[in-house]
Amino acid sequence: MAKLLIQGGTVVSATGRTVADVLIDGETIAAVLAPGQAETLGLGAGSDVRVVDASGKYVVPGGVDVHTHMQMPFGGTEASDTFETGTTAAAWGGITTIVDFAVQNTGGSVQDALADWHTKADGNCAIDYAFHQIIGGVDEDSLKAMRYLVDNEGVTSFKLFMAYPGVLYSDDGQILRAMQTANEIGAMVMMHAENGIAIDVLVAQAIARGETDPKYHAFTRPADLEGEATHRAIRLARVAGNVPLYIVHMSASEALEEVAAAQHAGQNVFAETCPQYLYLSIEDQLAQPGFEGAKWVCSTPLRSKHEHHSRDLWKGLRMNELAVVSTDHCPFCFKEQKEMGIGNFAKIPNGIGSVEHRMELLYQGVVNGEISLERWVETCSTTPARMFGLSQKGQLAPGFDADVLVWDPNGHTSIGFEKKHHMNMDHSAWEGFEVDGKVDTVISRGTVVVENDAYVGTKGHGRFVKRGLSEYLR
Ligand SMILES: [Zn+2]
Repeated sequence: MAKLLIQGGTVVSATGRTVADVLIDGETIAAVLAPGQAETLGLGAGSDVRVVDASGKYVVPGGVDVHTHMQMPFGGTEASDTFETGTTAAAWGGITTIVDFAVQNTGGSVQDALADWHTKADGNCAIDYAFHQIIGGVDEDSLKAMRYLVDNEGVTSFKLFMAYPGVLYSDDGQILRAMQTANEIGAMVMMHAENGIAIDVLVAQAIARGETDPKYHAFTRPADLEGEATHRAIRLARVAGNVPLYIVHMSASEALEEVAAAQHAGQNVFAETCPQYLYLSIEDQLAQPGFEGAKWVCSTPLRSKHEHHSRDLWKGLRMNELAVVSTDHCPFCFKEQKEMGIGNFAKIPNGIGSVEHRMELLYQGVVNGEISLERWVETCSTTPARMFGLSQKGQLAPGFDADVLVWDPNGHTSIGFEKKHHMNMDHSAWEGFEVDGKVDTVISRGTVVVENDAYVGTKGHGRFVKRGLSEYLR
């Protein structure tokens, strides 16, 4: 297999940075070499080793996005990125692994759902991928299936919903049973923590009052109902034996407080947030005049910039109350998809497309002094990999998969539909965002997939990765 030497860059890990060369042999990292060592070993210019010049650049583990929804059915339509377009866009953004959600809807079978997701992804991905399993109907069969998936399928995390009654919702008893099972088998429980029963009442009342614009999506999903559900999920997890619990897409200070309090009390509770909750707001995006705001309808919703949510979420990232930044990438086109909700915000498909921009947007947090360079690597690569048992991912160390992002800190990225945009959507939720730094080169298991502002990867290069149990607590 071919050798590749990434030379002259600053290698950044979750714990520090050092000038070093990264030697790749085939699909894995062979060594991290001190400056000059490569020449001594005969690996430099003139050898048969391909050299990637990383002078003046950061060399970091490729991004791991543990929350995406490619081709996910939602509200009578389907997320617009296929596994091919979505993973290609991810590669453009320095992401080398995604973990997508196989969906068991209420009434469906878990194994059929997982098989369905394999069919969608197999042979189509530009980068490696793994699956979480959504349990939309907790019963004897699905509890049995959870065990089977952990033992045989490399699927070790299960997402439950306290929202979306009738579609994905589990009641407290079902949640407790799934948590007890997860606790027995060592699996991670992921939770969409919003009180969907109460939300549905507020939605019906708003519609009856004629409040149908996109912004009412946020007003009918108040932060209190995210905080309440987060609290309830945490208490249920404690009753279930302190099962590891991971709160997805956190947007509200009220929810963060619950997580922080539980962590201080010694409970195995983790949480992620997403770029939209760090940068976007009701006022600047969702409440735009007319139907424009539909582009930013997602759940949990954007929050008011006049409250303190995004400020608190950045603080949570610094303090490790939030362990991970994912995207909850769930793209829908404006035409025909978001437009299904004209005249009724409740019919707008929920989701924002961001898989391409997470590394870029979070690097701006480094530039702005919100997080350190090391924390950028930790929250976007190293911890998501460890949290979800991707034991070969998220670190540049001998034996790990050679998934690498070479990042140019002196570059600049203009985000927008006519600019950098490779997701299969007819608009960008990040239109007009200008960020420092730039994706330079992306390597997936030893194969260069992005270089010189071009995608040079291939569909089908990406492989399904069987995951182990979370490494975060062991
Ligand atoms: Zn999601």
